[in-house]
Amino acid sequence: MQLKLHNSLTKKLQEFIPQNPDLITMYTCGPTVYNYVTIGNYRTYTLGDILYRTLRYKKYDVRYIMNLTDVGHLTGDNEGDADTGEDRLEMAAEREGKSASEIADFYIKDFQKGFRELNLLKPTKFTRATEYIAEQVKLVKELEKRGYTYRTSDGIYFNTGKFENYGELSGLTEETVKEGARVEPNPEKKHATDFALWKFSPKDSKRWQEWNSPWGKGFPGWHLECSAMCMAELGETVDIHIGGEDLKMIHHQNEIAQSEAVTGKKFVNYWLHGAFLKVDNGKMSKSLGNAYTLDDIKAKDFKPLDLRYFYLSAHYRSTLNFTWEALGASHSALDRLYNILSGYTETDGDISADYVYKFEAAILDDLNMPKAVAVVWELIKSDLPEGDKVQTLIHFDQVLGLDFQDYVGYEVPQEVEDLAKTRAEYRKNGIWDKADLIRRQIEERGFVIEDLAGGYKLKKRF
Ligand code: AMP
Ligand code: ZN
Repeated sequence: MQLKLHNSLTKKLQEFIPQNPDLITMYTCGPTVYNYVTIGNYRTYTLGDILYRTLRYKKYDVRYIMNLTDVGHLTGDNEGDADTGEDRLEMAAEREGKSASEIADFYIKDFQKGFRELNLLKPTKFTRATEYIAEQVKLVKELEKRGYTYRTSDGIYFNTGKFENYGELSGLTEETVKEGARVEPNPEKKHATDFALWKFSPKDSKRWQEWNSPWGKGFPGWHLECSAMCMAELGETVDIHIGGEDLKMIHHQNEIAQSEAVTGKKFVNYWLHGAFLKVDNGKMSKSLGNAYTLDDIKAKDFKPLDLRYFYLSAHYRSTLNFTWEALGASHSALDRLYNILSGYTETDGDISADYVYKFEAAILDDLNMPKAVAVVWELIKSDLPEGDKVQTLIHFDQVLGLDFQDYVGYEVPQEVEDLAKTRAEYRKNGIWDKADLIRRQIEERGFVIEDLAGGYKLKKRF
């Protein structure tokens, strides 16, 4: 069975054919590290993770790069002109009284912690935009040499009028840019679609982050970093490029233009765009107070993996609506699954070829995870021997990433067994406070005790 992916460039479901089957190259646009990453962002990174895992499951070697934007992402992006406004990193530095690199370090650390908690496999490399300034400058020089750039009072711009296929990915035109913008286009731009490659530092103030360049002191335009890092790390043509659907219209279109103008080669063979996560059927935003983070999720006693299970409940190309009730339903389903797994007494068995076939049919069909999860439940309800179920579920978990292994065939340590026996004695004698204390000690050791008629059962705590 071959993997099929919906390619945003051709707008078709296509069989995935890597350039080099020995090493697949893949890139995801990562976060701008000026604030906590939201559960919306993590939805897109989970799409990257599922694809990464699926390729590895199919025994491919994958070189997977994710960038970290630590310079040059301006606030004008929200108004429809990414070249205006303030630099988000510099703003955060101002706000928090730290340097821009301290801000970046702090939020990168937090982001990567969340990454691990959601069981997102570490990419081959996380690349920071500020560590690829030389590559970005080189790219602008190449574009300049080929006549694709011009200078305005605030920077060096890419002339989209010179790039024949501009708009190929998203259909972006001067008209659509003007319609989408909430600000007047910069009158110095030759076309509304033109974008900054290099911005000059303001004359009257010093930036936290600025570099010398042939055009004077300044910093790179936001779109530039992805082309520079992608090509530096993965070559001139990359197999797969991923991002949220909001990036397709402008950011990715510009990545294509500035890369292909230099190389004359196709930049990306398969573009994948993840649909957005909404909250209560509306936009998620800081101003509405609903731009939830992983810490918000944990503060309500949900596990990060409840969120991962929730993400899996929708196809990546469908909008997913977050509500606390919906997360609660995912939490219950996952706990039920863990409960069932930890209740299996026979754990040795064979991987079921029938169910593997069904599971693969789902994941290879453009990463249809809701269907894959349905196969998990079908397997659990089937009359296969317990050991086969366990082994097949662990096999599936290479892609699902839900830690099934941790809930299977565990042994209760003697110390926990002893505590449980002591607690039973206390309960028999009505010494409830001591029984309660021991229950907490059992929980601290990673187990929960369930009282049954005439006894108790020890289970792993999750
Ligand atoms: P940013 O930090 O804004 O550059 O976004 C980082 C990544 O998260 C990009 O791929 C965005 O498309 C994606 N993203 C932002 N908001 C959402 C959302 N609500 N749902 C899904 N993905 C999102
Ligand atoms: Zn990007």
